[in-house]
Amino acid sequence: MKIDHDIVIAGGGVAGATAAALLAQAGQRVALIDRRRPEDPDPTADFDPRVVAIAPGSAAVLRAAGAWECLPAERLGPYDRMQVHADGGEIEFRASEHGLAHLGWIAEVPWLQACCWQALAGMESVELIAPAGVKDFSQREDHVRVERDNGKTLRARLLVAADGAHSRLRQMAGIETEIWHYNQRALVTHVTTERPNAGIAWQRFTEHGPLALLPLADGRSSVVWSQPERRVAELKSLDEAAFLADLNDCQDSPFGMATAATRRYAFPLIRRQAKSLAQGRFALLGDAARNVHPLAGQGLNLGLMDAAALAEALADWTGNTDPTRALRHYERWRISGGSVVAGGIHAINEFTRAGPGRSLAGLGFSVAGKLWPLREAFVEHACGLDRDSPGLARSAR
Ligand SMILES: Cc1cc2nc3c(=O)[nH]c(=O)nc-3n(C[C@H](O)[C@H](O)[C@H](O)COP(=O)(O)OP(=O)(O)OC[C@H]3O[C@@H](n4cnc5c(N)ncnc54)[C@H](O)[C@@H]3O)c2cc1C
Repeated sequence: MKIDHDIVIAGGGVAGATAAALLAQAGQRVALIDRRRPEDPDPTADFDPRVVAIAPGSAAVLRAAGAWECLPAERLGPYDRMQVHADGGEIEFRASEHGLAHLGWIAEVPWLQACCWQALAGMESVELIAPAGVKDFSQREDHVRVERDNGKTLRARLLVAADGAHSRLRQMAGIETEIWHYNQRALVTHVTTERPNAGIAWQRFTEHGPLALLPLADGRSSVVWSQPERRVAELKSLDEAAFLADLNDCQDSPFGMATAATRRYAFPLIRRQAKSLAQGRFALLGDAARNVHPLAGQGLNLGLMDAAALAEALADWTGNTDPTRALRHYERWRISGGSVVAGGIHAINEFTRAGPGRSLAGLGFSVAGKLWPLREAFVEHACGLDRDSPGLARSAR
């Protein structure tokens, strides 16, 4: 029987496209299928509301995938300081104290995705199939049969689902998911402040929820403010002056008052964790595997670690052999890595919802700030440089 590809990846978001590039570079014949072919971003357009903090380990993974160098410097907001405040207590991290040039970069999701696809377009062993959706799949002893929306079928040795938080492929596989509804939404907008944000990722746990001001490359800050759904709806309906007054009541960042804001967007916040990440010749990665509260800016970073970990786990696999063992290794690795991060983020969000929790968190930040080994361990983990991170990520050191 003719096998079309070693690996089919369903979902060409940043996580799936990065996995496709790394696996192709390791010698696999890869097909990447997505419902939408990403458009070339307009270099003259304003910053997209969907921005993410990319850690140094993740940047190294994107570099290895051939996507990092294509991101224009004028659209990447590097930060070398991170400040977190809660009810009088605070902690600050400085890249230079941890032997790093930067703690991360604020980048736009559409640019990241377009750069991944541009890198893939130049790879001979990659077939990009878009726009096209995966409708169904079934596993046979030595291959997976993948059925497209248009009725065409593909045969591959392995199928990877990177089709996002609402993953249909995860549902088709019957993989159960734990779900927590936060009843919160993330309000997102870009603000101009009295002084430019020259590279500080600033965060405060406010009485309404965590508020972050993240540096954009042009000196503005991207606001990500997670709050109860009703309050987000109210804030969205305010005129700009009233919104800015509310925001300024809750923020005392080093950049001064916010004086202008772009359109406001709201993203629903739900935590999901798939109970297993591998099943026979099928694996999950990125948001399809889990998605987390954005307060620590880790969602896509986890997805990029998945991509690098999958490539590392499959390094010795050839299409003719059974991938089950390698996938089990991948699953154990990424379930434990992802759960620690997701569980920690979840606990902080829940704990800081009430006043006493925020006061205790503030005290904890101040104490932790003075404990060097704890600070170092936190930075290593948050930057994707700890011992549990894939080798590609650790190469950023
Ligand atoms: C407000 C907010 C702030 C955030 N901030 C950060 C941050 O600072 N740092 C960070 O790391 N993360 C952050 N995140 C999380 C981050 O945005 C996501 O984790 C990441 O974008 C998910 O990428 P993905 O490739 O896994 O999935 P997606 O981007 O959802 O891609 C899935 C792809 O699959 C395709 N698809 C779906 N179904 C099918 C099908 N049946 N067949 C074929 N293709 C299909 C879709 O078209 C899509 O292209 C934030 C999220 C939010 C909401």
